[in-house]
Amino acid sequence: MTNHSDQQNAFAARLLAWFGQFGRHDLPWQQQKTPYRVWLSEIMLQQTQVQTVIPYFLRFIEHFPSVEALAAASEDDVLHLWTGLGYYARARNLHRTAQRIAQDHNGRFPETTEALEALPGIGRSTAGAIASLALGIRAPILDGNVKRVIARHDAVEGWPGSARTLAELWRLSEQHTPYERVADYTQGIMDLGATVCTRQKPRCARCPLMETCRAYQRAEQALFPGRKPRKTLPERKTFFLLFQRDDGALLLEKRPSPGIWGGLWCFPEAVAADLTPAALHPMVADGPRAPRTELEPIRHSFSHYRLTIFPVLIAIGQPPGTVAEVNSLRWVKPGAQVPLGLPAPVTHLMGTLAQKD
Ligand code: SF4
Repeated sequence: MTNHSDQQNAFAARLLAWFGQFGRHDLPWQQQKTPYRVWLSEIMLQQTQVQTVIPYFLRFIEHFPSVEALAAASEDDVLHLWTGLGYYARARNLHRTAQRIAQDHNGRFPETTEALEALPGIGRSTAGAIASLALGIRAPILDGNVKRVIARHDAVEGWPGSARTLAELWRLSEQHTPYERVADYTQGIMDLGATVCTRQKPRCARCPLMETCRAYQRAEQALFPGRKPRKTLPERKTFFLLFQRDDGALLLEKRPSPGIWGGLWCFPEAVAADLTPAALHPMVADGPRAPRTELEPIRHSFSHYRLTIFPVLIAIGQPPGTVAEVNSLRWVKPGAQVPLGLPAPVTHLMGTLAQKD
């Protein structure tokens, strides 16, 4: 008969044995494991696949080799290197956190999970990952992959977004975390979720946890983790006004932060196709206007609503010379390499217009 602690050790022991043979050991953030590199990779990996993250991670480390270098960078530089990864609040928090670490902690990451969690954008799981992977501190994690493995192995009912289910998953994650080789264990359970206990068609026959997995025993892998209660996302629409000068340049403005696409550069927006001078952007309102062209609408999904964008191209000749560029406005030619952070629909439109030139 096995007691509780044998089972707990067995879970970690089987996972560690599997990790030694089949785990991933050559990801760029596993080399020279520092809190900075682990933190950066953890933030990038939220909602993003490993293969997508690798080139971004390498570029970031090349530009900002230390947390102090990141703290000293401009927000535009940070958002520019993030362009394409999405969920830009992550990049702004990353920058703010780097500045806090530089100012309040002399450029060194704090070494307890509580102090790590007090930093902006670092939740309990990210704090656990930094503590366990880079510092060897016994701390549980619960990212999306780990939630799935534990929800299945222990047949945890309910949607992990609900407080009750989440608390139960944390309790089990804590219970399964071993006291030794915690860095390998943490990497191992993340790898198992990413490569074996996958969302679709888990490869149970290759899983070291198969013997004790309750979802496997009941052939109910697809029922765990529980689904979110269905809710249809609201639909919204907006108009992008693409003011184009004779030389092809388009007007971009920096969006206020915080907010959707905060700190990124976007076309001026309008809530309706009202292009009377009163509704137009002050920088171009007095300029001459040729007929406008309506471009293909673009659909874009956010976590809490869906947006349809109606882009309208408006040739404005040469805008009045008296209006100087200000910090929050730029004229940018389609196809030009500019060191600015751009939301995906703006990148898409710039690309489309560059092809037409
Ligand atoms: S046995 Fe299957 S469902 Fe259970 S943890 Fe392993 S891969 Fe996931």
